[in-house]
Amino acid sequence: LLILGIESSCDETGVALVRSADTGVPVLLSHALHSQIEMHQAYGGVVPELASRDHIRRVLPLATQVLTDAGQTLADVDVVAYTQGPGLAGALLVGAGVACALGAALGKPVLGVHHLEGHLLSPFLSADPPEFPFVALLVSGGHTQLMRVDGVGRYEILGETIDDAAGEAFDKSAKLMGLGYPGGPALSRMAQQGDATAFKLPRPLLHSGDLDFSFAGLKTAVLTQAKKLGDELEARKADLAASTEAAIVEVLVKKTLAALKQTGLQRVVVAGGVGANRLLREQLNTACSKARVRVHYPELHLCTDNGAMIAMAAAMRLQAGQQQANTAYAFDVKPRWPLDAITAPVA
Ligand code: ATP
Ligand code: MG
Ligand code: FE
Repeated sequence: LLILGIESSCDETGVALVRSADTGVPVLLSHALHSQIEMHQAYGGVVPELASRDHIRRVLPLATQVLTDAGQTLADVDVVAYTQGPGLAGALLVGAGVACALGAALGKPVLGVHHLEGHLLSPFLSADPPEFPFVALLVSGGHTQLMRVDGVGRYEILGETIDDAAGEAFDKSAKLMGLGYPGGPALSRMAQQGDATAFKLPRPLLHSGDLDFSFAGLKTAVLTQAKKLGDELEARKADLAASTEAAIVEVLVKKTLAALKQTGLQRVVVAGGVGANRLLREQLNTACSKARVRVHYPELHLCTDNGAMIAMAAAMRLQAGQQQANTAYAFDVKPRWPLDAITAPVA
């Protein structure tokens, strides 16, 4: 099967082509991405209406590009997959509308994909794909969850954030240090020149005994520290960034190890934008090699939103026996959609 995947849930337009056979990990043929980061930068965050309009401009040219890159034509596409949710309603509607229009015009089925399932399965696009079952640490801009994953669609949430997501903690801390948007990569870059022990910041819920997270208090502690520094902040930015990054990463790593212990599983998969974080990868690698646990990541450029993960999730669902691809082309999007609300495909 040749699957065209479209991602438009937030501020990146992504399109990709994945080829799947009856068995074996589906293969990425081509993918293209347009990030709106520059457009939103002036506002310090994503402006939903601007995002929707820009997706409209980008999605078809990107589709043409991935088809050309893979030496395929629209007529070769067997299934059109799109991000059905969660995300910004208007942005999701663009991808859904284009997918359904293409499906109707081509007489091919369309399949709505859960954005977080896309992130979760994105490590299957890497050269070293994982095997089920595994513990997943999903750390994106809007979500922070530990999951037990037994197969496609078989997800059990073990713990999650009770307030801000890890990505949000990076973004908000970066913003109040004046490091710009998106804050994760900027804060991490700044942290490289800093001393991570310079400031004592809280490790929220580290010893809570469960697998939940909380990052709102950390952000407040960073704000308090920044205010205390006043004029000195500029000179101490790298130290504060390093201390913030260390606090977030320590909690993520320790809770992941606790999830491994609780489930008895021997494999971890990291997914979502924060999975690109250098310190998280270093510390998780060290901890996992000590515990003799395998750890898998998406490729660096596929940690944040992209079309490849959407095409891959659709391919794996179809391979696992999902039948209900939509040929009524009634597109409905789900701006709010918990990951544990989706079910396994039935063969
Ligand atoms: P969701 O998937 O939950 O709807 P999202 O799609 O906005 O949210 P992603 O695209 O997965 O999230 O990731 C974006 C987040 O990842 C941002 O918060 C960004 O700051 C963070 N991020 C990206 N690179 C890094 C990095 N190197 N270090 C830390 N954080 C990072
Ligand atoms: Mg993004
Ligand atoms: Fe995302």
